[in-house]
Amino acid sequence: KQGSSPTIIRVLDQATVNKIAAGEVVERPASLVKELVENSIDAGADSVRIEIIASKNEITSIRITDDGCGMVPEDALLAFTPHATSKITEIRDLDTIRTLGFRGEALASIAAVARVTLITRPRDDELAAGTRIVIAGGEILENSAIGAPGGTTVLVEDLFYNTPARKKFQKSRATELAHIIGMLEGIILAHPTIAFRLTYNGTEQVVTGRNATRLDTIARIYGAATARDLVPVSTTAPLVAIAGHISRPSLSRKDRDRIILSINGRYVSSPAITNAIKEGYGTLLPKDRFPVAFLSLDIDTALVDVNVHPTKKLVRISREPEIAGAVRDAIKKTLAGHDLIPDIRPTT
Ligand code: ADP
Ligand code: MG
Repeated sequence: KQGSSPTIIRVLDQATVNKIAAGEVVERPASLVKELVENSIDAGADSVRIEIIASKNEITSIRITDDGCGMVPEDALLAFTPHATSKITEIRDLDTIRTLGFRGEALASIAAVARVTLITRPRDDELAAGTRIVIAGGEILENSAIGAPGGTTVLVEDLFYNTPARKKFQKSRATELAHIIGMLEGIILAHPTIAFRLTYNGTEQVVTGRNATRLDTIARIYGAATARDLVPVSTTAPLVAIAGHISRPSLSRKDRDRIILSINGRYVSSPAITNAIKEGYGTLLPKDRFPVAFLSLDIDTALVDVNVHPTKKLVRISREPEIAGAVRDAIKKTLAGHDLIPDIRPTT
């Protein structure tokens, strides 16, 4: 006998879908900064400025300005549509992906949980119009032509204003700033030729120059003393090219937090590669000490699956054991080629 119970399943409206999706992409202010800075890098920017403004209790606005390719008016609007991207057209494109983005979700997600003002103009087209779009909670409040320099500025305000649970989850502004700085350092090291400038309430936090060497950049961020204790690594193995710097055994840490990796220009964390680096030191370091290492790996894009996690912080590497082995051997060989007797420096 047919009952009369009502149906209870419904398809969610797009605004709700976007807010839920945003939860994965925009976990905290640092994830938002990461997405926007990666967009600037993908846009071919030479310089990227990040301005964070905080009140006594929380981060209140984030502004990213780049001199990248910019967007024409139609694209500027489309950019906020979920799954709209200029970076891939079909799934096969992921096998050869060189851009950091491809999901087409960041701008839509951010605009779903904040108030976003986008100002953009195509960089290489003197005659092109500039566009200003204001969008909050997924709703377009303004879309107008304005004069603007070539490139793109994205201003994010009222973050999580319509998702109170997420807003409450935000830690102190100092904690959030530390996350932003840590994430940004990883991105900067993967792109030492781009000039970055991070300010917090107007005070410079991280500044790097255009076309800097990786070692310059390391010295800028971690200090000249750290840079002095590093040796360069440069190896090409069959499956991976490895470049960067690793610490002499005299410089070590109790955590693995200063083993900073990028794969094909993407700042990632990889437990397997991190372990391989540690293994490369063998007995030169005690079991519970970790080296400092800044390494960029270049691996055939077909071997790297970047579509593992919405934030793309983890990637899946095919033939990982062989690649990890190549990294371990490169570290070993590099250390063997250098004078490993710790420098004796006067302590002050
Ligand atoms: P994705 O980066 O995965 O493509 P996003 O939502 O981050 O998705 O961005 C959507 C699209 O908007 C991008 O594919 C790009 O074409 C454009 N876009 C976003 N940010 C910028 C920028 N800073 N400069 C130029 N174009 C941008
Ligand atoms: Mg993106």
